[in-house]
Amino acid sequence: MTIDTCNFQGKKVIVRVDFNVPLDENGKITDDTRIRGALPTLQKVLADGGSLIIMSHMGKPKGKVNPKFSLGQIVDAVSEKLGVKVAFAPDCAKAADQAAALKDGEVLLLENLRFYPEEEGKPVGIDKEDPAYADAKKAMKESQKDFAKTLASYADIYVNDAFGTAHRKHASTAVIADYFDADHKMLGYLMQKEVTAVDNVLNNIKRPFTAIMGGSKVSTKIGIIENLMDKVDNLILCGGMTYTFAKARGGKIGISICEDDKLDLALEIVEKAKAKGVNLVLGTDCVAADKFANDANTQIVPATDIPDGWEGLDAGPATRELFTKAIEGSKTILWNGPAGVFEFDNFTGGSRAIAEAIAKATAEGAFSLIGGGDSVACINKFGMADQVSYISTGGGALLEAIEGKVLPGIAAIKG
Ligand code: AMP
Repeated sequence: MTIDTCNFQGKKVIVRVDFNVPLDENGKITDDTRIRGALPTLQKVLADGGSLIIMSHMGKPKGKVNPKFSLGQIVDAVSEKLGVKVAFAPDCAKAADQAAALKDGEVLLLENLRFYPEEEGKPVGIDKEDPAYADAKKAMKESQKDFAKTLASYADIYVNDAFGTAHRKHASTAVIADYFDADHKMLGYLMQKEVTAVDNVLNNIKRPFTAIMGGSKVSTKIGIIENLMDKVDNLILCGGMTYTFAKARGGKIGISICEDDKLDLALEIVEKAKAKGVNLVLGTDCVAADKFANDANTQIVPATDIPDGWEGLDAGPATRELFTKAIEGSKTILWNGPAGVFEFDNFTGGSRAIAEAIAKATAEGAFSLIGGGDSVACINKFGMADQVSYISTGGGALLEAIEGKVLPGIAAIKG
């Protein structure tokens, strides 16, 4: 069953969304992207004449009730966005009566699922090293099933629209699906869009395919780099991780960020790219700074010859041109991780050059996927979000999907 073909009329529908929105100190939402992202699914259920039980996590309350992470704070905002008064269930595991009383067109938002340790299924208050941990974990897995069964009992149909947590086997993202048959569980619209976008860069590739991987560390991106190596034509590596490559190749990198225990890994990546015929693009120059600050003094130097006491904080002009050339004419583009410390306005140039090249290629018909935390913040900072094909809402989930891992939240529904 798919959300498009399902008629929700007269049905109670429990939807897992990602309403883990950032709040300011007064509990006001500072970015409502995630709520807006879930609206098409929620609106489809209401438009058909169904009723909604919305569930989500917020923050990391670690299995305990914590008012700081209460979803009660966003009830009014959700009501306003949906145009329907939303009721609130202050205990997500004791909402059976409220759910049963829901009439068609009505909406109930459950309190933060993670106030219960059963949501994540991790035993609390016991150390992993403790000999009793294995038994505690087993017991927790059982109570996780009960918790999921309770949530499932509220509704006729389960919809998962929370891509951001799809890489987690939690009660509400995966275990709950066991209590619905194939005709009564499905992915929401946001999930479908994410799955299609990932499919476009993993399976449905139009060539040339250029992946741009940046960010601070090679260690956190290695799984993706390895999976992409079999698929891409051009692999641009940028940002802090490239100083590990520069040092591995015998370069002088000053005090640039570097993972000294990953020098061999960097060389292996270079070799692998060669063996697989991938055009690996590494920067030739950088903007070096005399301190890690926006107002640092700067100079353009070769990426492999950075003076002592200086650190590379952005891609240099020659590198920007190299990146732009590689992106130009691409038909599939994936960007994860900035090319410099874009949080400092004076070190955004490399990332901006990448964003502009991606926007141009997209305008010429390429499919471009931007995802994984910082590159999204980056493209938003440049006000260019509407010039790329798709911006993923998933951080860890997107990265794991691109690594080629099966996401439990999707597998639970699709099998
Ligand atoms: P990641 O979380 O690994 O994707 O890395 C993103 C972070 O990398 C951002 O906060 C950037 O500021 C940082 N970053 C990018 N380039 C550099 C660099 N040359 N030196 C230090 N940090 C960097």
